Amino acid sequence: MKAHEGMYIDGAWRPAAGEDVIEVVNPADEQVIGRVPAGTAADVDSAVRAARAALRAWAATPPAERAARLGALRDALDARRDEIAETVTAELGAPPQLSRAVHAALPIAVAGSYAELAAVYSFEEKVGNSTVLLEPVGVVGAITPWNYPLHQIVAKAAPALAAGCTVVLKPAENTPLVARLFAEAVHEAGFPAGVFNLVTGFGPVAGQALAEHPDVDLVSFTGSTAVGRRIAAVAGAAVKKVALELGGKSANVVLPSADLARAVNVGVANVMSNSGQTCSAWTRMLIHRDRYDEAVELARTAAAKYRERIGPVVSAEQRARVVGHIEKGVAEGARLVAGGPEAPREKGWFVSPTVFADVTPAMTIAQEEIFGPVLSILRYEDEEDALRIANGTVYGLAGAVWAGEEAEAVAFARRMDTGQVDINGGRFNPLAPFGGYKQSGVGRELGSHGLAEYLQTKSLQF
Ligand code: NAD
Repeated sequence: MKAHEGMYIDGAWRPAAGEDVIEVVNPADEQVIGRVPAGTAADVDSAVRAARAALRAWAATPPAERAARLGALRDALDARRDEIAETVTAELGAPPQLSRAVHAALPIAVAGSYAELAAVYSFEEKVGNSTVLLEPVGVVGAITPWNYPLHQIVAKAAPALAAGCTVVLKPAENTPLVARLFAEAVHEAGFPAGVFNLVTGFGPVAGQALAEHPDVDLVSFTGSTAVGRRIAAVAGAAVKKVALELGGKSANVVLPSADLARAVNVGVANVMSNSGQTCSAWTRMLIHRDRYDEAVELARTAAAKYRERIGPVVSAEQRARVVGHIEKGVAEGARLVAGGPEAPREKGWFVSPTVFADVTPAMTIAQEEIFGPVLSILRYEDEEDALRIANGTVYGLAGAVWAGEEAEAVAFARRMDTGQVDINGGRFNPLAPFGGYKQSGVGRELGSHGLAEYLQTKSLQF
């Protein structure tokens, strides 16, 4: 059987229980580029059984051996680097350069980081007269979104496997092809059968069946707050562990002492990259009133550069959602300085890089996650005002602070209610924990904090 005709369960590609398929569409030209099975509860059940059966042996496998398999996985992904980039370009619509530099490179780096971490992580601690064992939580149900399709998978699967958990993955229905490449890499890396399983399918069918399955010990979900809330409710009722990475409305705070041009240029790039489909995107730019007009002008110029470069958003529904938010921004009195609710192109789900000025904190576009290339620029009076605005949403995923002196930016960042802050630009660190304060989520991904999510403790008293 060819890989795409089945699902990866218990170490082999197997036919789905049902006949339904998902057609995968290229968002740039609306062509069907592939088909995968639309899995059902029966497929989820087979996968969970396989994961359960494999659990004890994998949990008992020495961490050094688990680390070796993760190293092989990293190498198997690296060998597919070009294919991964091409696949993400085809199913997400990401520009090829972004696919290579981010969509392929990032997950390879994260897989590598867990290969290293698993080898040195201390799965046992001494506390007084006790020994604390850090043991795998068990069978993990991983449900991932389409926005960084491979990164989201690796950010869950790699730490779970490093911890000694077994995994059933249900990737987003829009981007299942790169998930299939991931399963091929897992197979090649020599993980025992059942340790990792892939079930493709729609959220309300396969995703829900996985979240509700009584033999799943932990559900790790990344996606919308609405679905996250439902998953948390199901998990709560079953007293099941849950990790949630949800939405964001992150603030990019430009203090008066900052290099304004740099802060605005990097800020615009951050929002427009991946067509704004980044949960941690700095979608609210906060500028002091004395530099406001200058910043708006800089942002207008910066946004114009993305007009030709920007990829489409993932689907027609997503485009409609984003355009709806842009129309709402106009209706609520924000001033459009770039882009806007333009008519759709003949083919492809494109949205122009859009910048709003004169946005006030209560406006919908300053409160709700848009998940499209839309930047809101807000004006603040003084630092306290900036802090109130920055902290004034239900979210707290990421953010940025810019100042002349790093120490000034750090002092401000300490007062922000958010899980990650980039200081004067920042650089991605695969070992730094990522996750939300407030309604942006529960738990952390990446690095040792991400690994700890998949462990539970047992103490032995002597
Ligand atoms: P979503 O929450 O609908 O989908 C995420 C994953 O959950 C997918 O695999 C989906 O199949 C699955 N799912 C959907 N319904 C489910 C259910 N009832 N039970 C179990 N699993 C289910 O998100 P989306 O449709 O891909 O995007 C919608 C919005 O989510 C975006 O506009 C954005 O605001 C947000 N989002 C956030 C992130 C993030 O990283 N935080 C990523 C993607 C999307």
